[in-house]
Amino acid sequence: MKPYTNKRIADESRYWGIYSSAEAVLSGRQVDIVNKLKARLAVITGGSKGIGRNVALRFAVAQDNIIIVHYDPDEKDAAETLRALRQLGVEAESYKIDVSSFEAVDSLFKDIFSKHKKIDVLVNNAGITRDSLLMRMTEDQWDTVIRVNLKSVFNCTHAVLRSMIKERQGCIVNIASVVGQIGNAGQANYSASKAGIMGFTKTVAREVAPRGVRVNAVAPGFIDTEMTAVLPDTVKESFMKQIPLGKIGRPEDVAEAAYWLCTDAASYITGQIIHVNGGMYM
Ligand code: NAP
Repeated sequence: MKPYTNKRIADESRYWGIYSSAEAVLSGRQVDIVNKLKARLAVITGGSKGIGRNVALRFAVAQDNIIIVHYDPDEKDAAETLRALRQLGVEAESYKIDVSSFEAVDSLFKDIFSKHKKIDVLVNNAGITRDSLLMRMTEDQWDTVIRVNLKSVFNCTHAVLRSMIKERQGCIVNIASVVGQIGNAGQANYSASKAGIMGFTKTVAREVAPRGVRVNAVAPGFIDTEMTAVLPDTVKESFMKQIPLGKIGRPEDVAEAAYWLCTDAASYITGQIIHVNGGMYM
C-alpha cells in the first residue's frame, strides 16, 4: 500500500463516504499526522525470514510499525529484516525468544505493553518441521513441533487478547498449512499442529468477536522458503504435480492475504481459513 497522500485520502474517503472534502482540508502536514495516527503496531512471530519477513514488510509498506520475534541466536536474518523495515520509514524492533515457552512469551508481551500502549495486530507465523513417518517418529519430534507450532499460538494469543478486548479492536492471523487440511505422509506432527491451529482460530474467533477482535488463519500451500528448500527433489516434484496453477507460491502471496485480513476491507471476516495454495486444496 502506498503512503497516505492528499489524493489517496480524498479517493478513499470518497469511496467509504467518510469525509466529503478531505482533499480540500488536508495540508501536507496534516497528512503526516493522519499517517502517524493510522500507524498500527503489528507483532509478527517468525518475522526474521521467509513468510514472516514478507508479512512484516507488507505491513510496513502500509506504514504500520513492526515488532518481529525470532529464535536463532545468529541475528543475521533478523538484522536484515529490521534494516529493510526501517528503510520503509517505520519503527521496527526485534526480540529473540522461544515462542513455545509460555513464560518467555508472557514476559516479552509485558515488556511490549509497557513500552507501547497497545498491539493492533498479531501474526502467529513461527513454525518448524521435524519430519518422519509415524512409525519412526520420536516423542521429541512430536513434542517439539506441537510446542513450537501450536502451543506458541496459544501463548502469544493469550498474551495479547486481554488488551485487544479492552481496546475493543484487534486482528490476529494464524499461519496454518494446507497439510492441516489434507495431511501429508511424514508430517503427522506438523499436520496435527496446523489442524490444531485451524480449530483454535475458529474457537477464539467465536469467543472474541463480540468484543471487536477478529481471528483468522491463512493456510499456505507449497511456498518458496528455507523450510521447503531442504525438501528432496522427489518430494518437491510430487507437490508440484498437485498444484493446478503449476507453480510454487511466493512468501509475498501469503503475506498479501495476511495483510488484507487485517484491513478494513476484511472487517466482516472472522473465523475463516484463507487458502493460498495455487489450487492444491479446494
Ligand atoms: P522459515 O523460513 O523456516 O521461517 C521460520 C520462522 O520461524 C523464522 O523466523 C524462525 O526464526 C521462526 N521460529 C522458528 N522456531 C521459533 C521459535 N521456537 N521461537 C521463535 N521463532 C521461531 O519458514 P517459513 O516457510 O517462512 O514458514 C513460516 C510459517 O508458514 C510456518 O508456520 C510454516 O509452518 C508455515 N507454512 C510454510 C509453508 C511453506 O511452504 N514454506 C507452507 C505452509 C505453511 P529463527 O530462524 O530465528 O529461529
